[in-house]
Parts: sequence; structure tokens; C-alpha cells
Amino acid sequence: MPEIRKILVANRGEIALRIMRTAREMGIKTVAIYSEADRNALHVRYADEAVCVGPAPSSESYLKADAIIDVCRQLNVDAIHPGYGFLSENANFSRIVREAGLIFIGPSPESIEIMGSKLAAKAAVAHYNIPMVPGTPSAITNRDEAKAISARIGYPILIKASAGGGGKGMRVVEREADFDEQMDRAVSEALSAFGDGSVFIEKYVTSPRHVEIQVLGDQHGTIIHLFERECSVQRRHQKVVEEAPSAILTPEIREAMGQAAVDVARACGYYGAGTVEFIVDDQLNFYFLEMNTRLQVEHPVTELITGVDLVKQMIYIAEGKPLTIRQDDLRIKGHAVEVRVYAEDPANNFLPDVGTLETYVRPQGNGVRVDDGFEQGMAIPIYYDPMIAKLITYGDSRAEAIQKMIRAIDEYQISGVQTTLPFCRFVMEHDAFRSGQFDTGFVTKYFTPDKLLAATDPNEAELGAILAAWLLNNQKPATHTTGIEVTRQRSNWKTNRLG
Ligand code: ADP
Repeated sequence: MPEIRKILVANRGEIALRIMRTAREMGIKTVAIYSEADRNALHVRYADEAVCVGPAPSSESYLKADAIIDVCRQLNVDAIHPGYGFLSENANFSRIVREAGLIFIGPSPESIEIMGSKLAAKAAVAHYNIPMVPGTPSAITNRDEAKAISARIGYPILIKASAGGGGKGMRVVEREADFDEQMDRAVSEALSAFGDGSVFIEKYVTSPRHVEIQVLGDQHGTIIHLFERECSVQRRHQKVVEEAPSAILTPEIREAMGQAAVDVARACGYYGAGTVEFIVDDQLNFYFLEMNTRLQVEHPVTELITGVDLVKQMIYIAEGKPLTIRQDDLRIKGHAVEVRVYAEDPANNFLPDVGTLETYVRPQGNGVRVDDGFEQGMAIPIYYDPMIAKLITYGDSRAEAIQKMIRAIDEYQISGVQTTLPFCRFVMEHDAFRSGQFDTGFVTKYFTPDKLLAATDPNEAELGAILAAWLLNNQKPATHTTGIEVTRQRSNWKTNRLG
């Protein structure tokens, strides 16, 4: 069995650090790659060795497969961990890594290929009796036929890009009269974002909840699941608050979803860590959406409730070791909540914000985990995902984890950029979230920027500015310039509050 002694992490930021920490605990040496924009990044400083692979744009650095493999050759690297994003779900990359005699810490290129296409994934699981949302089983080639199918399943329907990801390439169609227009948009969006214009139709599940199952499979055919994560609080179909376990699953549904997820993984000969995503309706019926063939952003909540280090397991699996955790050994203990701290302005339609972290002080204490890649004084580069950190809290119960989250958010001091923290505090305080009665429509249904007022400390010095910013943006069409002006007005609000 090959032993991994040196890992190159083909990623940046919090996830690169998170992977390197586990590697260090296992006595494995680490190599960081970085772009010119990330010279001083924490992952570069943390690694045993670090190599610059190109200029700031990802296409010239973090996505440069050949340059990355060259670094591996020069530094005697045994294995590559791709993290999430970048090359993590690129079947071709995993193939050339193997061809170069290196270990790819992730599934086979074939599994990535199948699950990378929502339609191929549906076809692969067809024999396993997995519940699926009613819709078209293949790409739409004939519009009249597609309209007839839509009429049969009933509006609203969703047009989805087969190659879609990250919430992109999806269009809700409320009625037949809008069908053609939305279809044109979906196809052109899919083409420009993914280079593949194939789209299909799904019934739009109303009041849907997003519940996903973590799976682990070894190279010997054993596949287990590590229960669910609920990720229903989303903006633009993108997750912002996650938790484990879900507030609504019964043990029976959990068991059935876990089994379905293991079957999905089996359908594509899966090994490594993966996530099977489901949508759950208001009757608790669940339907398979897609499988993500990589470590997920929100994996820490699963680690906290199961006590399993997922990165460690990924490394063992990549070495060819059989899983030592058995399904029956796993229990859910306690509750974990994660909020994503993005450099975005919740008062301005979650527009990404740029700037320098003038103040940056992490919360601490019992039950608080912060996975981040920044320090005070560092700039948030505009080239990459604007996530600053993941803030995760853990408690005996859901209520305790939520209370800890509110405490941790209040301790977090960030100034210089707007962040999603005030929005996340609003979520934690909201009755719908606290009672567990919410769905993916949470933001649309309950959130307007003036709500940030109610969610913050009444002593907050600059509360008025939030409202002013909202009023301003609601009088004029929101532009990026407006966002930056608002940023400057409010830039110290967190500092003032704690100062
Ligand atoms: P992506 O690959 O872009 O993340 P997904 O298929 O995973 O796309 O869907 C992302 C989100 O979009 C889901 O979490 C859910 O909020 C919403 N969604 C997807 N499919 C449906 C559906 N059929 N009905 C209602 N909402 C859906």
C-alpha cells in the first residue's frame, strides 16, 4: 500500500489550511501553491514548502494543472489534495495526476465525470430506486415536447443546466407564457458559464429544504454515510448557513436518506469523501438532486457531530486503506451550526465587497471553531471567492449551538469590509429558524436589510447607517459604486460596537 509522506494542496485560503492541519497531525509534509496575489497568505506560511505557480487570475495559477504537477515532481510530492472549487471536480485533472504517478486524494475520474453532469448522474442511479424530482430524464432538444412535459408535471417548473453548479444556470418558470423566454436565458447562461448548453426540466418543489448526506467510501467497496447536513438558508441558491443534524428529519427518514445516498455512491463506484444532495418537500418526501465528488465547504458540522476527521479519512482512503469506521459505530452527538462569513454586503443585495481587514479578531471559547485564511491587515483579493471564514459552533442541543453562534458572532470583530455576519445573526434570532420551520425561501420571505436593525445590539453605534444604506439603495438602482460608498460609511461599525 502506498504511504503518503508529502501532500501538495492545490487550493488556497481556509480549505488549504484546514487540509494542511490534518496532514501535520498525521506527520505528513505539506506543499502550498500560491498565486502572486497570495504571496503573504496564511496557507503559504503554514506549509512546509510553498511555490508560486503564476499571476493572480485562477486560470493562470490555481487552475494550471501542468504547473502543479511540475511542482510535485520537483518536490517529491506523493499526493495532491484538491480541496473544493478550482480543480477538485475536474475529471481530467484527476486523470493526469494519476498518469503522473501521483495519488489524487479524491474519487476516480470516472466517478467525477458521471456526477459532474446532473443528467448522467440521474441516469447512473436509475437502477437503484432513488426518488427523483419529476422532470425530463435527458437534455431538451424539442421545445414543444418540453412544454408538454412541463404542463403535465405542472408549473412552476425549473430549467436547469446539466453542467450547472454553484446555483448557476437555473431558471424558475411560473407559467407556460414565460417558457420560451426563460428557456433562451437558461441555455445562453449555461453556454457562457459552463460551455455546455444542455438543459433539462424539473418540477419546482415548493417550500423545499436542502438536506445532504455525507458519505465515505474506501477502495474496497465499503461505503458508509455520516448523516445529514441541512443547508436551506441560501441566497441566490447558494448556502450561507448550515447545520447538522437537520431540525426536521426523523430517525426513519434519516436512515432512508442515508441508504439512498450510499446507493448513489455505489452507482458510480465511489470512493473518497462525497456528498449526496437531496431536496425535501413539506411532506418530508426527499428527492435526489446531485452528488458533489469532493470535500464540501460545510464539512465541519459533520466532523463535530460525529467526531470523524473527514480529511484524515480521505487520506487513508487514498492510500488504499480499508475504512475502519463501521456504520453501526456512528452516532450523532450534539448539534453543530456553521455560518459562512463572506465579504458581502447584506444591506446591498449581498454584493461582494472589496477591501482590507482593518480589524480582524476571531471569536474564541468553548464550542467555537473558526476555519479561515486571513489575518488583520490582509486584503480580500478580488480574484477569488469572497469567503473570509467559516464560523462553526457546537453544543449539546440545537438551541445551545444557536446561542453559542450568537455569542460568537458578537465577539467577531471585522472592519474594513462588509460581511454576512449581521445577516447570520438575524437568521439565528429568527423564529422560523429557531423553530426549524424554514425552507430555501427563507431570505426572500423574511429578510429585508432593515431587519439587520432588529438583529443587532440596540447600543450599536451605527445602526442608522444600515437603514440609511438600505433606503439609499432602494431609491436608486443598486450599482457597485453605491455598494462601495455604503461600505465606507459603515466600515467601523463592528469595532465601535465592541470598542
Ligand atoms: P447547483 O449544482 O447549482 O448547486 P443544485 O441542483 O444542487 O444546483 O440546486 C441548488 C439549490 O437550488 C438547491 O439547494 C435548492 O435550493 C434549489 N433547487 C434545486 N432543484 C430544485 C427543485 N427541483 N425545486 C426547488 N428548488 C430546487
